[in-house]
Amino acid sequence: MSAGSTRITTLLLTAFIGACGSAPQDDAKFYNTIDRFPLSGISDMVERKPVLDEFQFRNIVHRVVDPYQKLAALHNARIVLRVPVEADVADDCLDAKDDDTVLRCSWESDFANADAGRSRQESSWYVGVGGGLARLPAMTPEGLALVLCHEIGHLFGGFPFIREGFTGLALPVSVDGQADYFSAQVCVRKIWAQDNNRYNLEGFTYEQMIEPAAVTQCNAIYPATPERELCYKTVFAGMSFVKALGRRSEEDPVPSVATPDLSEVGVTDNLHPMAQCRLDTFVAGALCPTVLDAALNPAAVYYDETKIPGYELAAPGGEAARDQSMASSCHENFWPQGARPRCWFSPEQTEEGGWMNEL
Ligand SMILES: [Zn+2]
Repeated sequence: MSAGSTRITTLLLTAFIGACGSAPQDDAKFYNTIDRFPLSGISDMVERKPVLDEFQFRNIVHRVVDPYQKLAALHNARIVLRVPVEADVADDCLDAKDDDTVLRCSWESDFANADAGRSRQESSWYVGVGGGLARLPAMTPEGLALVLCHEIGHLFGGFPFIREGFTGLALPVSVDGQADYFSAQVCVRKIWAQDNNRYNLEGFTYEQMIEPAAVTQCNAIYPATPERELCYKTVFAGMSFVKALGRRSEEDPVPSVATPDLSEVGVTDNLHPMAQCRLDTFVAGALCPTVLDAALNPAAVYYDETKIPGYELAAPGGEAARDQSMASSCHENFWPQGARPRCWFSPEQTEEGGWMNEL
């Protein structure tokens, strides 16, 4: 599932075909959904007791989503929690509207996935997360926060974009690679800014819980302890994410910070990159500060959370959008550790049929 359609996994493809063929009359359902994580078939983590309960699940959803309501309002939109579109739920959940009911129904569903989307009226931006996701053996509170941030990333991550449902009729949302990058560079950094980020719930330091190669990389970028700890925690979350969701079979190698995906796409990947590539993207996001002045980086980074790079432009797939996005993230020539990995991102162009080429 990295570059181009030839590497789309069967599972992902099936999910899309299923969505396309399921209910042609239900346009809202079809157009307003972007996400389908590849499901994990990994047995080596089944023994681990899930650490999340419903209370934590609800807390994490609110902790991630609520701070973004203010920012959505700047774009005349409102984030609406919903039961994920493809989740199987009881009849009394089908019309769930208020957050409390939506989250109860979501928690009760075994759907191990999440989604996001924008209505075509633009006033509602949706985020949904299934309770099955929180019960995956490798999932952690940090990993679930990163999943939620990934969904927020589809809405706020900016260029490069894809139109939901590939129909050409829906509104642009960020591609999965960008949603991953945003989740680590911007979203968890915002959500966890005031936390004590030294220990996880089980009492281990994040520094202990991640690979030594990642500790070295975090330390090389950040001189101060709080920033280092946030970097470790983000990498830990990324590891939880890819373990829970990123591998397709036991034959797939376990992703590692020490073995980055060095492949380079010719055009930006519109779909879910491979697990290793996704881990690389989370690490890159963790290693890219949201502000870097020109003394450190000639292509200075300044991420302004009130803007969505490229989104308000008449041509959100065009060069001006690309340039706004480059200015808010790390440049591969000047800050390569934090640049969006080439295993999914091409600064030159997006995939044929993607947003850029439709304009
Ligand atoms: Zn996604």
